[in-house]
Amino acid sequence: MSQTSFEIQQAAVIGAGTMGRGIVMCLANAGVNVQWVDNNPQMLEQALTTVAQTYAHNVRQGRIDQAEADARMARVSAAADYAAIRNVDLVIEAVYENLELKQKIFRELDGLLKPEALLASNTSALDIDAIAAATRRPAQVLGLHFFSPAHIMKLLEIVRGAQTSPAALEAALALGKRMGKVSVVSGNCHGFIGNRMLHPYVLEARKMLLEGAYPQQVDAALQGFGFAMGPFRMYDVVGIDLEWRARQLAGKGQDAPEVQVDNRLCEMGRFGQKSGNGYYHYEPGSRQAEHDPEVDALVLRVSEDLGFQRRDIGPEEILERCLLALVNEGAKILQEGIAGSAHDIDLVYLNGYGFPAEKGGPMAWADQQGLADIHQRLLALETRQGDQWKPARLIGELAAQGKGFADR
Ligand code: NAD
Repeated sequence: MSQTSFEIQQAAVIGAGTMGRGIVMCLANAGVNVQWVDNNPQMLEQALTTVAQTYAHNVRQGRIDQAEADARMARVSAAADYAAIRNVDLVIEAVYENLELKQKIFRELDGLLKPEALLASNTSALDIDAIAAATRRPAQVLGLHFFSPAHIMKLLEIVRGAQTSPAALEAALALGKRMGKVSVVSGNCHGFIGNRMLHPYVLEARKMLLEGAYPQQVDAALQGFGFAMGPFRMYDVVGIDLEWRARQLAGKGQDAPEVQVDNRLCEMGRFGQKSGNGYYHYEPGSRQAEHDPEVDALVLRVSEDLGFQRRDIGPEEILERCLLALVNEGAKILQEGIAGSAHDIDLVYLNGYGFPAEKGGPMAWADQQGLADIHQRLLALETRQGDQWKPARLIGELAAQGKGFADR
């Protein structure tokens, strides 16, 4: 097979949890045969049932007919072990977010798979090069970062490692197209494009809780701007406990003031929608986020205990800080070459993070404001709040030339 005509026909997915289930459906729906491995046989059994139920539901909704559901299901099969998947063209790994575990799996698969096969990880943030280094085929290793639920969300971040070959990227892009995804190539950095930008955005939201705002106010301001969900509603959907557990596992970050509200919520078993309570309350069986005065009281207590003098924080300040945090990080991502263009960053935010479509994405929004204006506003924040607001070099350069991100 030539390097450029590599087409994925047989794939395997490792991990039958939340992400594995969605990824398997993406592949089967696109006509790819998938073998499925999980070291917990019960998990795999359950996952196969869930996929069958999802297809049955799609038939009842009239989205596909029975014959199509049967054809999709017939493409999915359980595999007993790695030896059973030795002939596949692509493996997508979706096990726990743990570098050593992923490296171990990649090392083992590398020894078994045919040399031209691609090895992909669905990691949300881990170093693709460190994963590739566990193999003797780093040119065929890449990230395929799906968003939850993977069979519904349009975005696919394709993460290019330092040694990922153009042919491997091309094959991944072609697969993304077959799956009906909006694919964006990202360089390898912590969190890639989307989650790296999310970090300072959420940090501002969390800081404002300590300074005087409440979750509902922050969410209302961002939803007023047009976001599908504010950051705290989003955390309730994703699960507040994921980062909490990751911090515990890593043994760091747990003492930062900004995460104290999250910590308290998790200690109370308030993990978000899945546990009926998080930043909001959910009635049994409902996804409707309801204001919970208990959470406001908790926010107040935590910020007072930390010694904050609370003040009123209006929607303008909430928007200014959250949006400019996104734009400034986006500019750094662009100047570092992690994203190929401002448009790619906008695609990530429009298709994966609920940024309002009519505003075109964070970078397009910044261009509409004018980068000279954005630059001034960042400098003003830097004066008031410190170094973290230092404008990305690229913003100053483009502003000085009267250009926008799109001109780059
Ligand atoms: P999960 O906990 O729901 O599922 C993980 C699965 O991996 C489990 O079924 C487990 O039995 C299996 N597993 C663990 N070790 C294994 C091994 N050695 N061999 C085979 N199977 C093994 O996790 P998830 O939420 O689906 O996340 C999977 C990956 O996707 C993580 O890297 C995560 O960071 C990433 N991710 C998650 C989301 C999300 O919203 N959940 C979004 C994007 C990316």
